[in-house]
Amino acid sequence: MAALIRALRSSSSSSSFTNYVIRRSLSTSASTAAPPLSSETFTPFVDTKGKHVQWVFLGCPGVGKGTFASRLSTLLGVPHIATGDLVREELSATGPLSKQLTEIVNQGKLVSDEIIISLLSKRLETGEAKGESGFILDGFPRTVRQAEILDDVTDIDLVVNLKLPETVLVEKCLGRRICSQCGKNFNVASINVKGENGNPDISMDPLLPPPQCVSKLITRSDDAEAIVRERLRVYYEKSQPVEEFYRSQGKLMEFNLPGGLPESWPKLLEALNLDEYEDKQSAAV
Ligand code: AMP
Repeated sequence: MAALIRALRSSSSSSSFTNYVIRRSLSTSASTAAPPLSSETFTPFVDTKGKHVQWVFLGCPGVGKGTFASRLSTLLGVPHIATGDLVREELSATGPLSKQLTEIVNQGKLVSDEIIISLLSKRLETGEAKGESGFILDGFPRTVRQAEILDDVTDIDLVVNLKLPETVLVEKCLGRRICSQCGKNFNVASINVKGENGNPDISMDPLLPPPQCVSKLITRSDDAEAIVRERLRVYYEKSQPVEEFYRSQGKLMEFNLPGGLPESWPKLLEALNLDEYEDKQSAAV
């Protein structure tokens, strides 16, 4: 982990960035496309303590990366690291960085790669001091440059690309609520969207908070409709190419969410060949 943190820090400085872009363009010119990943061809490497997973969750804003990554991190015993959470922690502090980040986030734009990598390195360092190993990244990488930096410093085993139709994404973002005390995410939206182009209808029940959280619910400032639409536009422009980056390496697993958490969680575990692992973990508790 220490080597990963050092490498991350030095990769984000501009001179070494030029070097690795050159190395990368030399090494990728001879590469060939890898076959797509599916549950038939993917076997997760989970050691007895589940410590060695190095996974990335991709997907549009509101798709549920945080929910699924957080559940998997509990199941596998690896940290769930969401760069959006790191940014929000920084927003709640005082100082010039907080002011600068608030403006960027409230416009639905991306924070610079340098700032994000610095926040991520700090988070990994804190985790390392606590003995963490492995990770599930959520919200990083979000640009091809970030993916290249990550690729240069460590091996990612698997990239899960969560997908939902755009109408559902917008409704989910608008319905998202967070408990200001316990930090848990809820959703007040009741979603029923007709499937288009042969895709099935999608229904999601609201995920309502328990009584003790009801009076403490807050809405993320960037979950306002105009900002959500801008975040989606930025995703298509800057982050969708990251899908192709991992697809060409044969690491991308596409996962179309069939509905809300109760329908999607077992299907996701099946796709990851983790359904039996979860049964064993539950039996051990
Ligand atoms: P999220 O919670 O993942 O939607 O992130 C909230 C906001 O934090 C995003 O809209 C960006 O402004 C910023 N952010 C989070 N992760 C990244 C990243 N990897 N690169 C750039 N900006 C990020």
